Amino acid sequence: MKRIFTFCICSISLFVLSLASAQTGSGSQATKDLALPYIPSLDVTAMDKSVDPCVDLYHYSCGGWQKKNPIPPDQTSWSVYGKLYQDNLILLRSILEQSGPGTAQRDAVAQKIGDFYASCMDETTAEKRGVAAIQPQLDAIAGLKSVRDMAPLVARLPLPFGRTILFVAGSTQDPDNSEQEIADLDQGGLGLPDRDYYTKDDAKSKETRERYIQHVQKVFELLGDNPQTAKQNAETILRIETALAKASWTRVERRDPYKLKNKMKLAELNQLTPNFDWTAYYRELKYPKFEILNVDAPAFYKQLSAELTGEPLDNWKNYLRFHVADQYSPFLSESFVEENFEFYRKYLRGAKEMQARWKRCVQYTDYNLGEALGQVYVRQVFSPELKASTLDMVNRIEAAMGERIRGLDWMSPETKQQALAKLANIRNKIGYPDKWRDYSSLTITHDDFAGNIQRGAEFEQHRDISKIGQPVDHGEWDISPATVDAYYNPQMNDINFPAGVLQPPLYDPKMDDAPNYGDTGGTIGHELTHGFDDQGSQFDAKGNLKNWWTKDDREKFDARTKCVADQYSRYVMVDDVHINGELTLGENVADLGGEILALMAWKDATKDKKLQPIDGLTPEQRFFVGFAQWDCANMRDEDLRVRAMTDPHSSAQYRINGVVVNMPEFAHAFSCKAGQPMVKPSDKVCKVW
Ligand SMILES: [Zn+2]
Repeated sequence: MKRIFTFCICSISLFVLSLASAQTGSGSQATKDLALPYIPSLDVTAMDKSVDPCVDLYHYSCGGWQKKNPIPPDQTSWSVYGKLYQDNLILLRSILEQSGPGTAQRDAVAQKIGDFYASCMDETTAEKRGVAAIQPQLDAIAGLKSVRDMAPLVARLPLPFGRTILFVAGSTQDPDNSEQEIADLDQGGLGLPDRDYYTKDDAKSKETRERYIQHVQKVFELLGDNPQTAKQNAETILRIETALAKASWTRVERRDPYKLKNKMKLAELNQLTPNFDWTAYYRELKYPKFEILNVDAPAFYKQLSAELTGEPLDNWKNYLRFHVADQYSPFLSESFVEENFEFYRKYLRGAKEMQARWKRCVQYTDYNLGEALGQVYVRQVFSPELKASTLDMVNRIEAAMGERIRGLDWMSPETKQQALAKLANIRNKIGYPDKWRDYSSLTITHDDFAGNIQRGAEFEQHRDISKIGQPVDHGEWDISPATVDAYYNPQMNDINFPAGVLQPPLYDPKMDDAPNYGDTGGTIGHELTHGFDDQGSQFDAKGNLKNWWTKDDREKFDARTKCVADQYSRYVMVDDVHINGELTLGENVADLGGEILALMAWKDATKDKKLQPIDGLTPEQRFFVGFAQWDCANMRDEDLRVRAMTDPHSSAQYRINGVVVNMPEFAHAFSCKAGQPMVKPSDKVCKVW
């Protein structure tokens, strides 16, 4: 499951998964109306024309949207992307209901997705089974005889949706040979969203740790511990996790791919972590034989080994017990589901209500069986014409990138040649995979939700491990076709746009080219530019971690990206919390590069057309308003705080305003004057690609 780096344009769907929540009732009505509301890719009613675009393009373009779209109580934030994702859920729900257990003549795909969804909707059984659904795992933990026996036990405790307990284990592309899959170990083992939650000393971080202890205590009480024991156990969990957190890389350190490249032999790993029996671990999982593996965070594993004997066995049993219960909570009885919501979505991210059960069930189906559900989904939403027109846009953006690279005044011909070779090698993946994932070995029944989740976890673990030693499958996707998101993977050197992100109001075949290029053209350019951002630029045309820059060019590149990092570090995210300019550097470079490319490609695509103003906006103005409207959003303060620590993307308004201040074409389009907030003096403009 482990990919060292992938980048997405926005991270909405990812959070739904890890911080899953729940609610009761209101889910049983059948879907009546599938005519989803059409929202154009440039919506003049979403604008606030009382704002001067030269002062604040974001609020000029999105002020109306923000007023019309308060954050729904079951959401932690609300945005154009988030809203499209929620609209998608309605369509997916109807697919799932039409595939249910009562449907005649279902094919294998319909049986899997229909029964999975039906099992999830069966609240009565989940309530009746309660904690019994995870009793086999809890019994196995209770039977642990020694710390030495932990390795094979941990191997047998895969967590939902490809996660692993105690650390992150699986396969990855060899950083030195992108055609080869190897075994990989990364840091993990924490219950809070980032290692910084355990190490920071400000009042908010302390409060969060206190609330986390209360949450862990509650989970232990739900497992049957008395309050006093549960509290003691919770303090133990925080102590263990704090030790692991301190030995973990920070998110900024993890942006350096060389820090994460630590290939070693199994014998060397055993020396690094003498208290964990890796041979037994890999044997239990029936790992394919391998010579070397990559350990992303050696210090983490060294510390883990020390902790294994530094804490009594009973403490480790409690650690495992808590993490199994916590990760399975969304799929158990209501009291578990509620506690999970209370801490992860309500306290940490500010949601007011749980999502309706049907919404959660649709998402769980998508996470477990995304390429089964996706087969039906793309038949309904992604026509061959749509594929052809979006691919045409991709080709035009790539041509613009080539032109841009050839025209750079700061890069030597030598490095340009390498950059162009990398560009030529990028794979474009549009809509859905050419070959669908085979789920035939995964048993799904309509009356065993927790069992389906467990078998799904085992299926994913097996699928991931089986890749080790095998050549890389370049056709593989990391997200499902229904996902409203996109990504670039530097080791695959591919850009991926699922069908879900190529829908109105993001990509709108009924609209003129200007907002489509401003919006989706910018997204395509964004993913493409990731191949050349501070991280992506360290991988070569084949996806190997190999320098292709001259020293002089690299220094010039670093100076240019520093301009971007410094600019964004000045922006405030919430209260006194600033954007972390180093954490968000790759995304900010991609946002800027993406929009420059989109503008070039749009100009080229329309050079023979006579463009006219529409709705009082010139074509250039429509390009920039279309761009801004991709990210109209309302955010809760709680959610912004989590994002400031964990999200490599800047917050919405700066993903728009932070870009156009570096584009003189914007000032020209709106006749902005020198000295206005959206106009930087020309010697201060950041320019990377
Ligand atoms: Zn990105």
